Amino acid sequence: MRKILPGSILSYNQYGYLKVAKTIKSKCPKCGKSGEFTLKANFYQVRKTGVFAEGHCSECKKPSVFVIMINDYSDQKNQEQEAEVYIYDPSASRNRLDQIEQNKNMPRDLIRSYRSALNVSQSKDNSATAVMSKRVLESVLKNYLGETIKDKSLSQQFDQLPKHIDLTTPIQSLSHLVHPDSPFYEMLELEREIDDETAVLLMKLLEGLIEYLFVLPEVIRSVQDEIEKKLN
Ligand SMILES: [Zn+2]
Repeated sequence: MRKILPGSILSYNQYGYLKVAKTIKSKCPKCGKSGEFTLKANFYQVRKTGVFAEGHCSECKKPSVFVIMINDYSDQKNQEQEAEVYIYDPSASRNRLDQIEQNKNMPRDLIRSYRSALNVSQSKDNSATAVMSKRVLESVLKNYLGETIKDKSLSQQFDQLPKHIDLTTPIQSLSHLVHPDSPFYEMLELEREIDDETAVLLMKLLEGLIEYLFVLPEVIRSVQDEIEKKLN
């Protein structure tokens, strides 16, 4: 997923106070050119916070998939909000793979199976994609659950997973960062000067936090909904 920045949104649809991108200029994942896409979203499930949309590239006419994040803005009534838009770009996934490979915490067998899954999905071998995806899921689970779960089903393993992962630490550590005596807090209060580099780091922190708390859980949830809808 690659986020579409507001500067690349050419026009909007207005739904009450919510602005949703209508046409977008973006690098096309299919032809690599800078194309224009008019988004057609499926809004009929309005309660979902992530909506899938499709747009055809003006250059190569091929479709790409977009995700529009319609968060709950009800606490900000009477204030104009803009929905975030992401494009599904496998080449962005490839860059992501490069990042993942640099990550020392990633188990090597997980990197190998994810790389294989990415390769077979890009060559449109759907059966191989299913097989490799299962291997990626098993590899993720094995990393956290160890060998003890050998005889357990995937479903049972996922049930166990939350007990073995600590998702709160990255959030808790922020408490230390924003402590009233910290230089960081002084900076937020404008009691300390902030240079360009720190401003960039600050924005990176916000981006990571928002992605961790809102974007990623929603992407997983809405993809899961979409898969269930498709297969049931
Ligand atoms: Zn294109």
